[in-house]
Amino acid sequence: MTWIAAAVFINDDVPAMLNLIQECAVQGADMIELRCDTCSKQAMETVLRDPAVRQLRLLVTIRPPWEGGRFAGSESDRLELMVAACRLKPDFVDIELEAWKNNPKFPQRLLPLLARPSLEDASAGAKRLPGPQLVISSHDFSGRPPDLDGRFAALASVQEAAVLKLSYKANNSLDALEALALYPKLTEKYRRPLVVIAMGEDGQISRFLSAKFGAAFTFATPNHSAGTAPGQPRIGDLVNVYRFRQQALHWGVYGVIGWPVAHSISPIIHNAAFTHIGFDAVYVPMLVAPGYDNFAAFIDAARKCPQLNLQGLSITIPHKENALEYVRRNGGEIDPTSKAIGVVNTIFLNTNPIQGINSDWTGAIKAMEIVGGIGKKEFKQRAAVVIGAGGAARSIVAGLASLDANVTVFNRTLDRAKTLAQQFNGKTGRVQAAPFEQIGREKFDLLINCTSVGMYPDSSGLPIPETLNFAPGQIVFDTVYNPRQTRLLKLAQSRGAIAVPGLEMLLHQAEVQFSGFAKTKAPMEIMHAAAESALAAMGQ
Ligand code: NAP
Repeated sequence: MTWIAAAVFINDDVPAMLNLIQECAVQGADMIELRCDTCSKQAMETVLRDPAVRQLRLLVTIRPPWEGGRFAGSESDRLELMVAACRLKPDFVDIELEAWKNNPKFPQRLLPLLARPSLEDASAGAKRLPGPQLVISSHDFSGRPPDLDGRFAALASVQEAAVLKLSYKANNSLDALEALALYPKLTEKYRRPLVVIAMGEDGQISRFLSAKFGAAFTFATPNHSAGTAPGQPRIGDLVNVYRFRQQALHWGVYGVIGWPVAHSISPIIHNAAFTHIGFDAVYVPMLVAPGYDNFAAFIDAARKCPQLNLQGLSITIPHKENALEYVRRNGGEIDPTSKAIGVVNTIFLNTNPIQGINSDWTGAIKAMEIVGGIGKKEFKQRAAVVIGAGGAARSIVAGLASLDANVTVFNRTLDRAKTLAQQFNGKTGRVQAAPFEQIGREKFDLLINCTSVGMYPDSSGLPIPETLNFAPGQIVFDTVYNPRQTRLLKLAQSRGAIAVPGLEMLLHQAEVQFSGFAKTKAPMEIMHAAAESALAAMGQ
């Protein structure tokens, strides 16, 4: 089992520290890392002696600045503090390889206080372990060490160490994949529990998936402001969203690739559905820098790691065109509508050949069908106003045109609207472009906002003139889903129109993805509830 280690910077406000530690335990931490870089010796000892804290598994770390920590005193002061900590017998102490190898006083003073290493104690789930065991660690905040194997050999040369830990800043998502791929190789080689962390947002999958790969532990934070290193996830997210307790090596991996990607609620939606049906898989955010080469390199590297077991991907900005290109270059199948749109938002790697689909347009049409009450056949000859000419507009215009609607595209940059209209005009429905200022001058049945106007944090934005009137029965669909009720939707509803929230599109495009991922019907109620609570937690 991989422990969740809550990293807590201890300060001299001991009652607050004790509360924070208990909060970490309540959230699901298996171990507390007491970071004693800046607290007094007295505060450290009080916390370490506290009866409630002693119920928990403890790791003590006192990190110097030369290894990314905050301890301001001399090395001999640090050693004395460490000796004092070891005398109070936490379960583990973390000591830097540099200190252990280059300062003979460290092993001299600490070895007599350490428990002998025991594989079973360190890796299996015993509640209390016999005295402090050594976590030997190495950190590189500048990037991936050039000689990873050498760095590990140096860590493993410390025979007294119970756990070998390497953390380095990920410069890209490939560094995170490499960190994960080290587990099977190095566990076999050194036969000792390992922790390999690629720090930063680029490296987050090395934390989210560390239980699948059998890490000894991974660090997490009770809340984002309390983290001790870049990219640490929240304890509650590891337990509840990424099912840290259940992850196993055979599990499939799915994810959403984007840049940025941290804002995406797709992991919450898909993982809730995976959990509900008992599907042995986990869905994670994957931050991949813009550009086809970065996109392809990430997926190629992921597919070359058999233990990762990458099965399927959702794709978001700016990679939807790259995704179509990747599927095409890798001999995959793309349906005709997605080809016409020129982008896909989903790649199925669990099919042979691989497949790319665009579920944005099907999700948008289904949202209008279900919430707007308009049947698929009823789109024919309807007057549809589409505002925007970016990726979302492109998918929706293609969908409306395929259903024979009469579409007018309004966009701030008129040329983009014209290009979009030309591409789809006459295929089935009629598509024309018009200047942004003319929105609402002609009668319409459907109005769809495909711009980011009105999106959090600038929720006051309105993509139409404030004076625009609506008629009962008109459908107003806002693709923006954060906030759930945009200013446009509130205004339209107050004037008698039927409001279709962007969240419905998000959920219906996820429904199609899910059924391709898990090969079963999506549990929409569960996905809906997960999305609603995620948005509520974001304060929307
Ligand atoms: P995009 O490709 O970047 O296109 C953005 C569009 O918004 C462009 O047409 C742009 O006009 C317009 N725009 C941006 N700022 C504007 C402003 N201040 N005033 C007027 N127009 C403005 O983005 P996208 O992928 O199409 O996404 C657009 C929206 O759709 C986003 O809010 C996104 O969240 C939403 N979306 C929702 C879902 C869902 O499932 N609900 C799925 C995909 C997208 P110019 O051409 O003049 O720059």
